[in-house]
Amino acid sequence: MSELAQRLAAVRAEIADAARAAGRDESELTTIVVTKFHSAGLVRELHALGVRNVGENRHQEALAKASALADLDDLVWHFIGQLQSNKARQVRRYSHIVHSVDRAALVDALARREGDPADEVVDVFLQLNLTDDPERGGVAPGALEALAEHALATPGLRVRGVMAVAPLGEEPRAAFERVRQASDRLRRIAPDARDISAGMSGDFRAAILEGATHLRIGTAITGSRPAAR
Ligand SMILES: *Cc1c(COP(=O)(O)O)cnc(C)c1O
Repeated sequence: MSELAQRLAAVRAEIADAARAAGRDESELTTIVVTKFHSAGLVRELHALGVRNVGENRHQEALAKASALADLDDLVWHFIGQLQSNKARQVRRYSHIVHSVDRAALVDALARREGDPADEVVDVFLQLNLTDDPERGGVAPGALEALAEHALATPGLRVRGVMAVAPLGEEPRAAFERVRQASDRLRRIAPDARDISAGMSGDFRAAILEGATHLRIGTAITGSRPAAR
């Protein structure tokens, strides 16, 4: 077995174990392998190992990989990085799910426009900022409902749930508990928006215990990332 296959198998086993510990069914969990900075070739290897969900955080890089791998038509591309509104239309073309929707202007930029196919829908997560630093991506938890109302009223978007990154310096389980509470509030106005995108290499176990449905796992599977180019 390659090292990549071994790491993937080890993470899958840990996820299964955490799901059991949480009393949850593993089938509720989607594991997104975060392949940012890695080559299209690595994504192809992951696909051969059964991976179907991959995550990217930079538009140019993601577009290049999605184009190079267009033959793998069952790959689902998740966009997980901060997104400028002027790139949103392009990102929507190859990304099936955008995890980083955090402001009304971005909702508007992702909307279906006059002339777009009527059935064109992009799934979105509303990203929460769990820090006090407004420079971090994400909407302040207190502004979640207003953003959700806006997204729900916008054509061409399907709100799947909330997304967050656990802040440094906070116990991840406590951070993910706050995410679960925000998810409960969201579901009061959008009952179908029940997904939670949370959990990375270092904290996915805590996220699973707090109800995460979409794990975004990079280095634990891919190994360390090459330096940014
Ligand atoms: C890079 C990244 C991840 C994956 O991080 P790892 O620690 O490598 O698992 C998850 N979510 C977001 C938003 C990221 O940018």
